[in-house]
Amino acid sequence: MKRIPEPFRIKTVERIAMTSREYREQALVDAGLNPFLLRSDDVYIDLLTDSGAGAMSDRQWAAMMAADEAYAGSRSYYRLAETIERVFGHKHTVPAHQGRGAEQILYPELVKRCKSTQPVFLSNFHFDTTKVHIELAGARAINALTPEALDTRTYFDWKGNFDLDELARLIHAHGNQNVAAVVATITCNTTGGQPISLENLQAAAALAKRAGIPMVIDATRFAENAWFIRTREIAQQGRRVADIVKEMMSCADIAVMSSKKDGLVNIGGFCSFRDDETLFRAVQEGCVVREGFITYGGLAGRDMEALAVGLEEAMDEAYLRYRVGQVAYLGERLREHGIPIQYPTGGHAVFVDAAALLPHIPSAQFPAHALACELYLESGVRAVEIGSLLLGRDPDTGLQEKAPLESMRLTIPRRVYTNDHMDYVADGLATVARHASSIRGLDFTYEPTLLRNFTARFRWL
Ligand SMILES: *Cc1c(COP(=O)(O)O)cnc(C)c1O
Repeated sequence: MKRIPEPFRIKTVERIAMTSREYREQALVDAGLNPFLLRSDDVYIDLLTDSGAGAMSDRQWAAMMAADEAYAGSRSYYRLAETIERVFGHKHTVPAHQGRGAEQILYPELVKRCKSTQPVFLSNFHFDTTKVHIELAGARAINALTPEALDTRTYFDWKGNFDLDELARLIHAHGNQNVAAVVATITCNTTGGQPISLENLQAAAALAKRAGIPMVIDATRFAENAWFIRTREIAQQGRRVADIVKEMMSCADIAVMSSKKDGLVNIGGFCSFRDDETLFRAVQEGCVVREGFITYGGLAGRDMEALAVGLEEAMDEAYLRYRVGQVAYLGERLREHGIPIQYPTGGHAVFVDAAALLPHIPSAQFPAHALACELYLESGVRAVEIGSLLLGRDPDTGLQEKAPLESMRLTIPRRVYTNDHMDYVADGLATVARHASSIRGLDFTYEPTLLRNFTARFRWL
């Protein structure tokens, strides 16, 4: 497969160091066999997450110098809100310190407004922090994902789509008045950064509208999703990415975003509202209490300036072609080695199908987590589990839930690593895969109750 050369040159470099296998064995034991707890200095190539790990441009750094750090009424807030209005078509913006900050002030308001004793949210797939905030607000999070997403081996363009029949059935079964919102996660992080088609998004929004249910878009990877629509959806081919973004976002009454991804910044988030001023005011009240005053929401003025520039740069087509192309290139290299991955690759990561690679490890012993530990020991590359460990326990029964996919995610930060780095990662994982049958599962020695994957500790079985 052809490598797409980077559409930038490098102005600042950061040294990264390779360690010995012996050193990494000790580091992983010290981290409780949880790569999340490694020191990043002990990691050679860090593919833990694309969140906040991207490189900013010279234009973003320049904008930061011109920021307004006023507590109230900052010019930088207005610049951000105007950018969001231009890019998303949403009139009102509430900034937040990151995605989950935006979620914690949005979802309780949606639950309150729903006035149901059994409120539910329906999504193609709720991201883990989204699910937690919905449950903390006293509601349930139910997914209606297209079944093709779970068949990792078979090509399908839209593995982030809603199962529209299931969505309609769920709305009917729970009753319109009990559905607090329909949430479209674009791209769908949990299934591999997989896109949702414009047609499917519009159909889901139409179902919500007919039932009088608010439509939320988790726009964390809006630009990558728009790129897939531009390149794969027949009716949209060759359209400007900015126009596709506008049309996607016109489906949403509300957007919620972690800017640490397609915002191309290291910290930040926001909620935006197409025209619902009442909800906007209510979320602003929550912002003051939990995030900070309504014109900074836990961010510095310079963070908001960098984000305003980042939202536009994320839609640059030369950038998106390279970005999505680099992920696809790593995926192709792994397939050449016979390593099973979610196919095709999505926008921000390659998801290795650990259940298929390690069929001897049951889901309750976390095969994808075991694989991530082995990859680190072999190559100093840090990856992360997206499977049963991340999913957690059923809130009603306390039993470990079984994730539909046991994936090890190789997440590519934006504008940080070169294609040579991708080759190194592929070679390291190929070596691990050659002795797959000798890899063991893991069990907890410490299990936190919320978002446990971040801080849990383990032992080999
Ligand atoms: C990362 C992410 C979030 C949460 O954002 P944070 O900035 O990490 O708090 C929410 N939704 C999706 C789809 C994400 O990928």
